[in-house]
Amino acid sequence: MRKKERYEKILAWFREHMPIAETELHYDNPFQLLIAVILSAQCTDKRVNMVTPALFKTFPTPEALAVATPEAVFEYIHSVSYPNNKAKHLVGMARMLLQDFDGQVPEQMEDLLRLPGVGRKTANVIQSVAFNKAAMAVDTHVFRVSHRLGLVSAQCTTPLSVEKELVKNIPETEIPIAHHWLILHGRYICQARTPQCDKCELKFLCKYYSQKYKVKEGTNKESE
Ligand code: SF4
Repeated sequence: MRKKERYEKILAWFREHMPIAETELHYDNPFQLLIAVILSAQCTDKRVNMVTPALFKTFPTPEALAVATPEAVFEYIHSVSYPNNKAKHLVGMARMLLQDFDGQVPEQMEDLLRLPGVGRKTANVIQSVAFNKAAMAVDTHVFRVSHRLGLVSAQCTTPLSVEKELVKNIPETEIPIAHHWLILHGRYICQARTPQCDKCELKFLCKYYSQKYKVKEGTNKESE
């Protein structure tokens, strides 16, 4: 199947079957989202959502978080992965927001990347979810599902190359929601170890499925 056709058919399926797809992190404003996304590195959204209500209540603003010690923040986040580092990052992030960005979460990639605890993936999530920009964050789910479906070639071996390929082929207005489509599909159907191909309605458009089960793409027939 040609790449253009593959994108069109897969995006059409998501459009129809997942018209609403959003982050599962709980937040009320860009500052809270930034905290939640920093905490979610190597950790589940479910776990992050368990610790953020008390954290947000105690540190509701960059001002409140900037004067906290990492030890005080640690008490609230000790059950997430890498709590020591993340506590330091959160306090450092709040201090930089105050010093360099008037206490506001910046929108530009180069500004976001200066914040402690913020890498390209986190910056893309903030741009996409908080500011609805055409940014594609490539996490482990997006990376895996894009490869399996054949949206990106085997030569795309880094998150950045997958990001570029997806951004090139997905209509700009759909990039923010496509990020969630791929994450949610990866989290609930196309799981890393045991993808649920029998349940997956994208199987006849899926490169991995056609290769594994010798099914011709675009049909539900076995290859000759
Ligand atoms: S058919 Fe299987 S491998 Fe392909 S997207 Fe669906 S679950 Fe993933």
